[in-house]
Amino acid sequence: GTADIECDMMVLGAGPGGYSAAFRAADLGLSTVLIERYSTLGGVCLNVGCIPSKALLHVAAVIDEAAAMASHGVTFGKPEIDIDKLRSHKEKVIGKMTTGLAGMAKARKVNVVQGVGQFVGPNHIEVATADGKKVVQFKQAIIAAGSSVVNLPFIPQDPRIVDSTGALELRSVPKRMLVIGGGIIGLEMATVYSTLGARIDVVEMMDGLMQGADRDLVKVWQKFNEKRFDKIMLKTKTVGVEALKEGIKVTFEAADSSVAAPEPQVYDLVLVAVGRSPNGKKIGAENAGVAVTDRGFIEVDAQMRTNVHHIFAIGDLVGQPMLAHKAVHEAHVAAEAAAGEKAYFDARVIPSVAYTDPEVAWVGLTEDEAKAKGIKLDKGLFPWAASGRAVANGRDEGFTKLLFDAETHRIVGGGIVGTHAGDMIGEIALAIEMGADAVDIGKTIHPHPTLGESIGMAAEVYKGVCT
Ligand code: FAD
Repeated sequence: GTADIECDMMVLGAGPGGYSAAFRAADLGLSTVLIERYSTLGGVCLNVGCIPSKALLHVAAVIDEAAAMASHGVTFGKPEIDIDKLRSHKEKVIGKMTTGLAGMAKARKVNVVQGVGQFVGPNHIEVATADGKKVVQFKQAIIAAGSSVVNLPFIPQDPRIVDSTGALELRSVPKRMLVIGGGIIGLEMATVYSTLGARIDVVEMMDGLMQGADRDLVKVWQKFNEKRFDKIMLKTKTVGVEALKEGIKVTFEAADSSVAAPEPQVYDLVLVAVGRSPNGKKIGAENAGVAVTDRGFIEVDAQMRTNVHHIFAIGDLVGQPMLAHKAVHEAHVAAEAAAGEKAYFDARVIPSVAYTDPEVAWVGLTEDEAKAKGIKLDKGLFPWAASGRAVANGRDEGFTKLLFDAETHRIVGGGIVGTHAGDMIGEIALAIEMGADAVDIGKTIHPHPTLGESIGMAAEVYKGVCT
């Protein structure tokens, strides 16, 4: 049939993956159409993910730090929280970012089409826009349709039961809150709500929180946060959720049947944060001949190409880890490959960060993973109790750990727990990408006194290779 719009490149979805792909494709000279169902660009990350959560976490960190100043001889009054103003602050932050993106799209002449897209053929997609259906014909495409929250089937519809999007709406601060799922998203939201005054329980099916991070890092976070939570229920399944007049009644079951299950509890708010699932099955991919797995992922090669040569896929849709910086990196590979460049996804490592208090950040091989795989590693560990800056800040509970190949002394991984850990983990990622060894890192002069200096120190203490 005839198309309403023709282009070199069609990008489906305007999250961090999609907008980055569209911008790079346009910069490389491809006429580009970007299709997004919502009125703002930025996807989950900017609208209901990374950015709003960090706006609220920053406020929580300031409140907590102000309270901690009492032991340094400075006492502030009890904070007065205007939740409407706090919410509108968060919305302003989002607005600033999404408006910026719209400007960047316009400057590059990226044609943004608002509506739900469904592939109708290998070179055509139909978009349901506010003024009817539009067909876009493309020479190449990048699918960046992202992921959606996973809902537990037995959970009823009730305004007191929310997902991360609902929690970020910040309608009110509950007295008692349950967070189902002890991953990064659940624990970040728990940090915000507890600082704002909620009493919080966390329930997690696995035997530990923040799966994927080394246990020694998580232990420090957990000890620091002992008072923040009423109960952390590990190896516990949530099996029933009932909406009652007096609250949400939740029943639990121990994953290990020899252990007694916690008593049922009634909460004012329940946050379900049990993971995200890819949107691969919701875009008519089969009409384009693009293969989608049973779970909704799209498989790609090192150029981010799907089984259909001229159609690429990136971001949460192509697999774990579901992180914005991974999506952006993949976006650039796909757009460059589409423009004929020899681009490949060749990152050695992708860092992970929990923006909790303290922050927990890790990259590359973890110690627990190495142990499980029988890989021999050596480590350099620098406790922040020996960092002048951390002690001066009154926050010396953390540590910095570097993991080295026992034979070559090259760095293969690292982890940091402490304030600003997320801002520092990039240096370890760079060291791994550059193939740096302990001497390279230990002999690099880091500024004193900084928290980042702990990375140099961790390399210096490693086997004394620098002495
Ligand atoms: P998405 O951001 O999911 O974007 C996909 C876009 O496609 C959406 O805008 C969607 O509307 C659109 N779309 C889908 N189907 C269609 C269709 N058929 N037609 C039109 N449009 C369509 N990651 C980090 O790295 N750091 C963090 O701190 C962080 N914090 C997070 C906090 C929360 C609460 C959540 C939920 C996530 C967080 N993430 C974080 C994860 C991050 O948001 C995702 O990894 C990232 O957004 C993935 O980008 P994407 O481009 O693949 O997809």
